[in-house]
Amino acid sequence: MASDKAKGAGRPRVEARGRDFIRDIIADDLASGRHREVVTRFPPEPNGYLHIGHAKAICLNFGVAEEFGGRCHLRFDDTNPAREEQEYIDAIMRDVRWLGFDWGPHRYHASDYFEQLYEWAEYLIQAGKAYVDDLAAEEIRTLRGTLTEPGRNSPWRDRSVSENLDLFRRMRAGEFPNGARVLRAKIDMAAPNINLRDPVLYRILHAAHPRTGTKWCIYPTYDFAHGQSDAIEGITHSLCTLEFEDHRPLYDWLIDNLPVPSRPRQYEFARLNLAHTVLSKRVLTKLVQEGHVAGWDDPRMPTLAGLRRRGVPAAAIRDFARQVGVARATSLVDLAMFDHAVREHLNRNAARRMAVLRPVKLVIENYPADRVEGLAAINNPEDPSAGTRRVPFGRELYIERDDFMEEPPKKFYRLAPGREVRLRYAYFVTCRNVVKDAAGRVTELRCTYDPATRGGNAPDGRKVGATLHWVAAAAARPAEIRLYAPLFTRPDPGAAGDVFADLDPHSLERIEGALVEPALAELAAGEAVQFERQGYFCRDPDGMPDRLAFNRTVALRDSWARAQATG
Ligand code: ATP
Ligand code: MG
Repeated sequence: MASDKAKGAGRPRVEARGRDFIRDIIADDLASGRHREVVTRFPPEPNGYLHIGHAKAICLNFGVAEEFGGRCHLRFDDTNPAREEQEYIDAIMRDVRWLGFDWGPHRYHASDYFEQLYEWAEYLIQAGKAYVDDLAAEEIRTLRGTLTEPGRNSPWRDRSVSENLDLFRRMRAGEFPNGARVLRAKIDMAAPNINLRDPVLYRILHAAHPRTGTKWCIYPTYDFAHGQSDAIEGITHSLCTLEFEDHRPLYDWLIDNLPVPSRPRQYEFARLNLAHTVLSKRVLTKLVQEGHVAGWDDPRMPTLAGLRRRGVPAAAIRDFARQVGVARATSLVDLAMFDHAVREHLNRNAARRMAVLRPVKLVIENYPADRVEGLAAINNPEDPSAGTRRVPFGRELYIERDDFMEEPPKKFYRLAPGREVRLRYAYFVTCRNVVKDAAGRVTELRCTYDPATRGGNAPDGRKVGATLHWVAAAAARPAEIRLYAPLFTRPDPGAAGDVFADLDPHSLERIEGALVEPALAELAAGEAVQFERQGYFCRDPDGMPDRLAFNRTVALRDSWARAQATG
């Protein structure tokens, strides 16, 4: 394998030491000369889309490689053709790139190593360290014992090398049906660690593989492929999640007993768990397949594709991963922490626009019917270079229905009969009359405006209690707006049993009759904006080009967490 000579290899480009135990180990290994260059990998199984938990592993593996001037491989652990698809391989590459990482020429597949892995299986057989077992899967499981009981030897454990070799070759040649035989490592059926009780290394599976087609009808297990793939690629630090800790002795045994070209070391860290979120691929696949969501990129999904469609910037996910950090202790991260990272980023970068989600008409009686003016509005107060735009204003406007109350309670400072408020970037208006339909529902607010307050300030210095956003009726564009809540009601979905019983039936709210300012029609799909006083939104690719649809990425203030807190 060609090795890149990265500039400054061995010297951290940023101060990485002290950030977490993994970076400390790497820094020590480079300082002591154990390794001249750090090589990591992100090893997804292409059986689903990447999610926010994977993002943590991606940011860690690509992050340390970048910081220490090494490299990170993207390796597909594609050892199970029954569950893997090209769609997933493509989606994984798209999502890793989107997240901001580049594997350069280092894209590999465990299936690239099938021939080598097969040879190493024969090597173990020759060394008397692997045997073909005719027991059915169920019997193997029974004989394996439990945590408190040792396992028992298979009656086929002491086959001769030549018989094992002959049977294994015939397995490869396709002589036996699925499940008829397996190849097992010969380690120790009494080992306290169950993973060392003669684990299965190869199984018969007459299934076409997305990359090797029908060349193989036996496939290595994940446990047999994983460590050896790392060794082939010269991975120095195999970083994985804690559930593989108990597998490490097996990986080490295999590496010790095979003529592999290098010796990777495995370090385990805690998975990311996010409140109200499920990160199990099995469950996510079911959500998609059973139609609980619109697809892998449904904005409610914790997948990178879903988050992207919801408008979450990749940089916010990287920041979040950094804030969560890497440790061995398992924890449940609050959604508010994620939302905060998203808001921080969008606050700096998203253009401000006006959109009225649930409109009610406001007519300015003393404003000429034929007049339209363009009022200057600031695009982003956090970023002066974003400049200003002209927002059309006229006699007929729409404001948020919630911004008016006929009989306002004490702390309601917005529009009410007889009260004056500011229309953002425009004028002060005073409500003079309320028009209602037969059912008593407000249909129109008749107002007057003060021409001297143009731009939003009164020359006499008088104050108003509220500033409202609005759109001009003649120029407004209709839009559909989608508000999302977490998919699951419980912070720990499934903890009470059936995870699907915890699905929130109201996680998507569709608002059909929204009206938005005309500049929003020019927004590209995926581009983020702040709807003033509402939250951050992005234009959904669905509905392009003439129908406007927006996804709420995150609310402006943390209304959701507060609502939870106050019950
Ligand atoms: P499964 O193996 O059940 O299909 P998985 O989530 O482990 O699901 P992989 O494709 O094997 O999926 O994961 C690729 C890498 O991402 C692994 O190294 C895994 O440890 C890491 N990873 C997966 N989920 C998380 C998570 N929630 N937090 C951190 N890392 C994760
Ligand atoms: Mg896995």
